[in-house]
Amino acid sequence: MLRRTFCKTTLAAAVAATIPGCGRDMPPAATDVGSLIPAVSSAGAEISIETAAIGELADSLSGRLYLQADDGYAAAKRVWNGMFDHKQPAMVVQCVSTADVVNAVDFARDRNLLVSVKGGGHSLPGKCTSDGGMMIDLSKMHTVDVDADAMSARADGGAWLAHLDTASLQHNLLTTTGTVSHTGVGGFTLGGGMGRTDRMMGLAIDNLLAATVVTASGDVVRASEEENADLFWGLRGGGGNFGVVTEFVYRLHPFNPTVYGGELIYDVDKNFLEFYAELLDQAPDEANIEPFFMPGEDGKMMAVVTVVWGGDHAAGEKALASMLAFPGLKGGDLGPKSYQAIQTQWDGLAAHGGQEYLKSGFLNELTPEVIEIMVDFVNRGTIVSWFQHLGGATSRVAPDATAFAHRKMAVNFGINYSSRDPALNEAGIAAVREFYYVLEPHMAGFYTNLHDDTEKKTWGNYGPNYPRLVEIKNQYDPTNLFRLNANIKPTV
Ligand SMILES: Cc1cc2nc3c(=O)[nH]c(=O)nc-3n(C[C@H](O)[C@H](O)[C@H](O)COP(=O)(O)OP(=O)(O)OC[C@H]3O[C@@H](n4cnc5c(N)ncnc54)[C@H](O)[C@@H]3O)c2cc1C
Repeated sequence: MLRRTFCKTTLAAAVAATIPGCGRDMPPAATDVGSLIPAVSSAGAEISIETAAIGELADSLSGRLYLQADDGYAAAKRVWNGMFDHKQPAMVVQCVSTADVVNAVDFARDRNLLVSVKGGGHSLPGKCTSDGGMMIDLSKMHTVDVDADAMSARADGGAWLAHLDTASLQHNLLTTTGTVSHTGVGGFTLGGGMGRTDRMMGLAIDNLLAATVVTASGDVVRASEEENADLFWGLRGGGGNFGVVTEFVYRLHPFNPTVYGGELIYDVDKNFLEFYAELLDQAPDEANIEPFFMPGEDGKMMAVVTVVWGGDHAAGEKALASMLAFPGLKGGDLGPKSYQAIQTQWDGLAAHGGQEYLKSGFLNELTPEVIEIMVDFVNRGTIVSWFQHLGGATSRVAPDATAFAHRKMAVNFGINYSSRDPALNEAGIAAVREFYYVLEPHMAGFYTNLHDDTEKKTWGNYGPNYPRLVEIKNQYDPTNLFRLNANIKPTV
């Protein structure tokens, strides 16, 4: 299959003659235009890759290999953020097995080829793609198997959050996943993984039981508390730095797929934010309360608050009664709701292909200064912004228990430009930065998955965990093959 796919490609006519056996069904090439294709090295230099070797790689795969002019290349290289979709990897290796990933990694490492890894393709700063590199595309590896007796789920490295939620909820089980269901489990989990049940269940990494990793050497390694515990520690917050994860195993928790919750709408003013600050202080772990500031139909900014209570409904009704009684309430309701309907409610809003730019940061508390800044910037109406509710179980894990150091935070606050019109990018990006840089002094680090920043800031953001991450990087990826991520620089 692979051989056929490759031979149908771009280079088909030109290359067929250069790959033994590949041109069997093809007419003879009119001209042999050479046996090299241009690519880019890890360090960004222009290099060439032999087409014969590409043919051998293609033959070795159960999945497919796409070159730039192939039918299917554009779809295979597609990423979520439209700002980066113009990028043209030299090749996309669409893997369907761990063995395919090993072959791709071996090929790229031996030729010093720039590598990006695409799980769900939702990297905000476009780290899953490149110009001239190899994209290791896991999108066809998306099976999830639930073991209801063991209360665990095994997810392929390219699965979406939707696959994990759907498979788990069928058994009235769940683990923490994020708020847009077409996001990939890969990048989501490796960065930390926040979601509407993290206060009850912890972050995704707090529920990770094991992972199968293809390291830079092409070895297939199991990581868990019992096996390669250092690697397991680093995977939980260290991003894609240590290899390609082809399989994640998660702990599942009993969960009623019908939650108490809904959406409530408020004006964005000081009273509302002070009220939200009180809720953050008092909310039980079952409560997840996340305001999204966006323009209403009249153009005026409003707080659309998604509420999920993951426990007993009567207890939720009691605990959340003050939200319904708050005088600034403009609309919405709370009641029994399908959790999966809530988990997919923003899928359309966050559809693929938009122009997206985002900065976010953690806040310990909403101080009067923070509230003043937020009321001012949000009501300028130039940009949307939102909270992710943390605390609870996420903060009962020690900052050095996993690579994810930001454990004592009440919320993550995101500021988000999103448009379908590239002409608006410059103003949108400027609006995000203006708001963010005023808030930044009040923030305590950021979530590497929802940020773009300098290397130095990224290293500082890992906090006291950084030296241990460098040691693990030195062991598993000493040449920094996996560098398109919140990169940890090896020192060997
Ligand atoms: C619309 C939207 C909603 C989001 N909501 C949330 C949320 O609710 N909570 C939250 O915590 N985050 C959220 N995020 C951030 C999200 O966690 C990151 O964007 C994450 O990187 C997405 O993972 P992905 O696999 O889809 O991305 P990709 O772009 O495929 O991957 C991002 C990076 O992760 C690494 N990677 C991905 N898969 C693998 C793998 N299998 N093995 C090794 N490395 C891998 C690679 O380094 C890659 O560059 C959201 C992002 C978007 C765009």
